[in-house]
Amino acid sequence: MTLSFDRRLSENPASPERRAEILAAPAFGTIFTDHMAVVDYSEEKGWHNARIEPYGPISLDPAAAVFHYGQEIFEGLKAYKNAEGTVGLFRPEANAERLRRSAERLMMADLPVDIFVDACRELVDVEAEWIPTGPGESLYLRPFMIATEAFLGIRPSKTYTFCVIASPAGNYFGGDVRPVKIWVEREYARAGRGGTGAAKCGGNYASSLKPQVLAAQKGCDQVVYLDPLNDNAIEELGGMNVFFVVDGDTLVTPALSGSILEGITRSSILTLAAEKGLAVEERKVTLDEFRELAASGRVSEVFACGTAAVVTPIGALYDGDDVIGDPDAPAGPVTQQIREELLGIQTGAVEDRHGWVTRV
Ligand code: PMP
Repeated sequence: MTLSFDRRLSENPASPERRAEILAAPAFGTIFTDHMAVVDYSEEKGWHNARIEPYGPISLDPAAAVFHYGQEIFEGLKAYKNAEGTVGLFRPEANAERLRRSAERLMMADLPVDIFVDACRELVDVEAEWIPTGPGESLYLRPFMIATEAFLGIRPSKTYTFCVIASPAGNYFGGDVRPVKIWVEREYARAGRGGTGAAKCGGNYASSLKPQVLAAQKGCDQVVYLDPLNDNAIEELGGMNVFFVVDGDTLVTPALSGSILEGITRSSILTLAAEKGLAVEERKVTLDEFRELAASGRVSEVFACGTAAVVTPIGALYDGDDVIGDPDAPAGPVTQQIREELLGIQTGAVEDRHGWVTRV
């Protein structure tokens, strides 16, 4: 199903000078472009009123379901401009499919893949001048859906709004790629069995804030979550999946347990690594096993991956007072190769063998 997007352009966009100033040093998620894509849903009309409109506040009834029961889901993907000036989105259909799965879990309206992809394309087309082109830079897109019905009973909303906003993005962790420090979280969980961990819903991130802040107070960049009901199996970070390089030739990542998010970067890396001749294993990795592998020197590299940070080396894991790894170790060869290849495909420097880039 497709809709045509009505373009209501801003009468007050950022000046070219202001835009150039922002693009010279893009941060992450602090500045937004001039427009947003918006589509409404009601049971009577289905998805309708697709439009590009000036970026600005959304007016909602204070009783809107999103404010009370957290019926909200979102996505994150990037648009890159290649050396010839062609703009591409990285695997937007995969994000659209994941949003559909999240919607299904939270009893929200099913958004057809084409409407999701068209909303992203239309917005990026209007905002093409906002795409930074420095190394690792892109236009980060944040599609999201909220429940808008004014009703305080606990049942699924009957109306929704889908929206896409865009923000020029530099390196997620700031500055150059550097190894990050990870806190092993033994007290708090972000998701439980049968919960919403596999969905990308705002509530998962609300519950991750406390452990994230506590980890930051201990000097760590992110938290790695465990499943205490499953032998302390390693799950994922607060906003990224995790990989281990074992014996130099095997890439291991936690299997999809139902409580971790199925990362699009994760799945892309599994494909690329297998093509490189690495063995790839999606399996249960307990913290005890990881500690043993690390102690015996068999884990040579650990890295995190996700849309925002692409591939980021993990220097050390902090488990209470124990430090596993070397916080200052540079990125290992497998981490570097995978990062370069993935970024290369995204930015058009490496051939897109899998048809992962959708042109705008
Ligand atoms: N896990 C979580 C909890 C995340 O928020 C993200 C970011 N979307 C990821 C993993 C990585 O997913 P992706 O590669 O699709 O960005």
